[in-house]
Amino acid sequence: MRGVAIVATLAALLALAGAEKVCIVGSGIGGSAVSYFLQNHSVKPIDVEIYEKRNRVGGRLDRIQIGDDYFEAGGSIIAEKNMHMQNFVELLGLKKVDTSDDDSSLGIWNGRGFIFQTVRSGDSYVTKMVTSLWNTLLLLWRYGTSLMTMQSHVSGMMENWMKLYDEDIPVFETAESMLKFIGLYEPTQHTLEEDLVAKGLSRLLIDELITVIMRINYGQNVSISGLAGSVSLAGSGDDLWAVEGGNFQVPAGLIKISNASLYLNQEVVSVEYVEGTYKLGLASNERKDCDAVVIATPLDEVSISFTPKLKLPARSMQHTITTFVRGLINPIYFGAKTALDLPVLIGTIEDPALPFSSVSILKSYSAEDNVYKMFSRLTPSTVLLDQIFSKRTFTRIIDWAAYPHYEAPEQFAPILLDGHHLYYVNTFESAASAMEASAVAAKNVARLLLSRTSGGILSQVVRKSDLDEAAEL
Ligand SMILES: Cc1cc2nc3c(=O)[nH]c(=O)nc-3n(C[C@H](O)[C@H](O)[C@H](O)COP(=O)(O)OP(=O)(O)OC[C@H]3O[C@@H](n4cnc5c(N)ncnc54)[C@H](O)[C@@H]3O)c2cc1C
Repeated sequence: MRGVAIVATLAALLALAGAEKVCIVGSGIGGSAVSYFLQNHSVKPIDVEIYEKRNRVGGRLDRIQIGDDYFEAGGSIIAEKNMHMQNFVELLGLKKVDTSDDDSSLGIWNGRGFIFQTVRSGDSYVTKMVTSLWNTLLLLWRYGTSLMTMQSHVSGMMENWMKLYDEDIPVFETAESMLKFIGLYEPTQHTLEEDLVAKGLSRLLIDELITVIMRINYGQNVSISGLAGSVSLAGSGDDLWAVEGGNFQVPAGLIKISNASLYLNQEVVSVEYVEGTYKLGLASNERKDCDAVVIATPLDEVSISFTPKLKLPARSMQHTITTFVRGLINPIYFGAKTALDLPVLIGTIEDPALPFSSVSILKSYSAEDNVYKMFSRLTPSTVLLDQIFSKRTFTRIIDWAAYPHYEAPEQFAPILLDGHHLYYVNTFESAASAMEASAVAAKNVARLLLSRTSGGILSQVVRKSDLDEAAEL
């Protein structure tokens, strides 16, 4: 490929020490996918140990039981073009469930009333078809051709994203070089709002529908980076799915088929590099020797001490409070006569006075008995919950350190943290946070690790500086 320098020669690769034991910190989709890709790409079996501080695998993929039903509590929706997730599900023999709701009526609430509202569909096929067509017309009427411009902008970005699945893609030591290679670094350097205004999208669409989507998907607004925003918009289209029985089964299955040793309830508190190996310190005071260490959790709220010390760009996590309620929404709070007059999904515009980002029906058992999911930036008080819901038979509040708080221009920690064998998967979350993004980052980490050891694939290593040079050619 023109301008891309091959900096690791065969001889240099073979000269590097082989990684005998790889220790992975974190058993979410990122850590489990590293484990899978290591075994999948290596010419010989690798000894992989996964350390997980909780008593379960999956990290931000978890489910909640309400009555006899289970609901996704964290990462929920997978887009059709999420190729790794798609492959994992097939490989593990899991089933997909379509999550595109039959009744996807939407209302945009500004605290005083609905500034936009589509209609709820009926039960029959014909009424569903008619309401779907009517709702499309309502959207077009309000937002006009800006909707099409938005769609083509997102499709263009996703076309670039698809380059990540090229079989002969090089391996990368930095997220910047990875993003530059696929032509998606620039959108991490300015905000979604700047990108969309430059594309000529209407203010109304940006401030209403797009803001609602950002608040639902990332708990933030259109000031997030153009890339994170586009990934979020791409995950709001049709053809969305989840794993039947819970998305957490993907990491659980990947760990199983990669024959990794899994240590639950084992928090890693220190990582020390001593004479060519790593000493992993556990909260239980045990120490483990590893030849390579992969950090598969965001380091922003984790207290692991590194020796030598690491200097990483500052990043904070956006907390999303997910409140599950079984009962009935209060129509009076929204100025409606009955709960049935309200849309299935209520999103909100960006206004600090609004106490929640969205509230939606997950399942309806009867007119008076539904399961709702509410997203907010702050923990809702009992008083607020009693205002929003007229009846509550079940309430559970989960505080997630959900995804990075995006602040364009984004800065990225390196993937190769120390120049030896300490790797970081979740630096890539500064580009976008999603199950698929962690899987993409995990594959690169596994290939990078193997390319820097004697027994692995022999791939091109692209360093940031080489791509910078290439860009100047
Ligand atoms: C409410 C919510 C909604 C979301 N919706 C979607 C969605 O619809 N679609 C989508 O694609 N994505 C969604 N996401 C994002 C998605 O869930 C994450 O991007 C993805 O699951 C991250 O996986 P990961 O393995 O990289 O990190 P994590 O899942 O966070 O895994 C890290 C693991 O490391 C463990 N760990 C941390 N510190 C230590 C330590 N010191 N020692 C040992 N173990 C440690 C943690 O316990 C955890 O299990 C959502 C996230 C949230 C919270």
